[in-house]
Amino acid sequence: MSEAVIPEYTAVIAGKQVPTTRWIDVLDPSNARPFARVARCGAAEVQSAVQAARHTYETVWRFTTPVERSRICHRIADGLRAEREELARLETLDTGKPLGQARVDADIAARYFDFYANAVEALGGDTIQQQPGRLAFTLREPYGVCGHIIPWNYPLQIAARTVAPALAAGNCCVLKPAEDAPLTSLRLADIVEQAGLPPGALNVVPGLGEEAGAALSAHPDVDRLAFTGSREVGEAVMAAAARNIVPVTLELGGKSPHLVLPDFDAARAVPQIVESITEHAGQNCSAGSRLLVHRSVHDELVAALAEEFRSLRIGPGLDDPDLGPLISARQRDRVLGHLADGRRTTEVVVGGGVPRGDLYDEGFYVEPTILDRVTPDHRVFNEEIFGPVLCVSVFDTLDEAVALAEHTTYGLAAGIWTSDVTTAHWLAQRLRAGQVFVNNYSAAGGVELPFGGYRRSGIGVEKGLEALREYTRCKTVAIHAQISS
Ligand code: NAD
Repeated sequence: MSEAVIPEYTAVIAGKQVPTTRWIDVLDPSNARPFARVARCGAAEVQSAVQAARHTYETVWRFTTPVERSRICHRIADGLRAEREELARLETLDTGKPLGQARVDADIAARYFDFYANAVEALGGDTIQQQPGRLAFTLREPYGVCGHIIPWNYPLQIAARTVAPALAAGNCCVLKPAEDAPLTSLRLADIVEQAGLPPGALNVVPGLGEEAGAALSAHPDVDRLAFTGSREVGEAVMAAAARNIVPVTLELGGKSPHLVLPDFDAARAVPQIVESITEHAGQNCSAGSRLLVHRSVHDELVAALAEEFRSLRIGPGLDDPDLGPLISARQRDRVLGHLADGRRTTEVVVGGGVPRGDLYDEGFYVEPTILDRVTPDHRVFNEEIFGPVLCVSVFDTLDEAVALAEHTTYGLAAGIWTSDVTTAHWLAQRLRAGQVFVNNYSAAGGVELPFGGYRRSGIGVEKGLEALREYTRCKTVAIHAQISS
């Protein structure tokens, strides 16, 4: 019997597919089998990609008007919508996430291109008053060549989130997707080409982090870096950026808390608390992974959450369950390590290991889990687990709640559940987190909302109008307009 042909995906540089002899197998997380292979780019391909981006920037893209770039970005959004089903299927195969979630990712990716297509037409600088005879103003100029390194959890969404504002602002890009889920980034390269983006404006170089990623972050002709991923690698990327004195956006991990206050009808918070830690099996940087709950509502809330967790359907992403598998054996083993630790030190309310059944033998599955009686001296309280694991702690006073929320060194997101408007405002200002959600969590992922981390969750902002400003730099022009007679 002949073996099925496995599709191959190569790098796209200057609009062309680049032949290679070095490959990485791409596994389907639901059964651990390779279903595609992708080019393993290294320093040579990164060098070609940066050169291509530089050439297109200097000869074409920097001379385009915002209206021209806006039209192309709208066409990219149309292309993403036209390919929605195919992109969603590919994303599900690649990441393991439920098909319905992958469809939402494709929709959001299209929204980013539409949003920045609209926003760039309104981008402008300031005029600055000086004494008569002098005129000063600022220009918002693109950086030139931007390097973007992204993770595997929301590849298409995050590729669009970081590349759309950069392109709209007039930069050319080199995108390095994660080795575990590179395929939709490469499909994006086809879609932008069909939309009329000049060759070389978006180059995609898949490969290993320590090869392609390290080469991109250290490249001396990259003018700006944007990194989304783990804190450890973020440190390395920032060190490389420092050596070339280029700005870097870091979107890193989190250990984001929900704070449920006694005045709130806790049952109303249940669906969003569940979703915030089970979407993509908890592999979400802003997952609501800690539940800090007032002692008076603890029992009722934990019982309601446990009931919901028990009813969640786990299975292959293409069957569109509530939870798919984790991305890899490595990630599953990491999460199981945390669960082993949690079983020893805390109280397991529901879940706690690998789900039982033949379906789960081959893929990278983990049960949605609630750990209760978690305190700040527990490892699971402080470290990002990046799996479907909710850690519950109780508080008695608002000060205690804030102290618990801030005990970790992260500061990505926080959810506050209260009916008291004064408490909501006080907490929203008090908490050191880049996004605070009151009586909701994640604000439906709105592309128009700026998103960034406080503390060790990162530096800089993606999304919203803020990101468009971040992908431009400010030049001051001062004119002496006095004509002497
Ligand atoms: P990771 O840091 O292992 O990898 C991210 C990217 O960096 C990948 O493309 C990888 O190939 C590359 N990389 C690895 N080593 C490198 C090196 N030495 N130099 C340059 N690049 C290198 O992260 P991950 O496991 O893919 O993603 C999970 C992490 O990402 C979690 O911590 C999560 O919280 C974080 N994350 C943050 C956000 C956010 O917006 N804040 C969004 C998604 C994920």
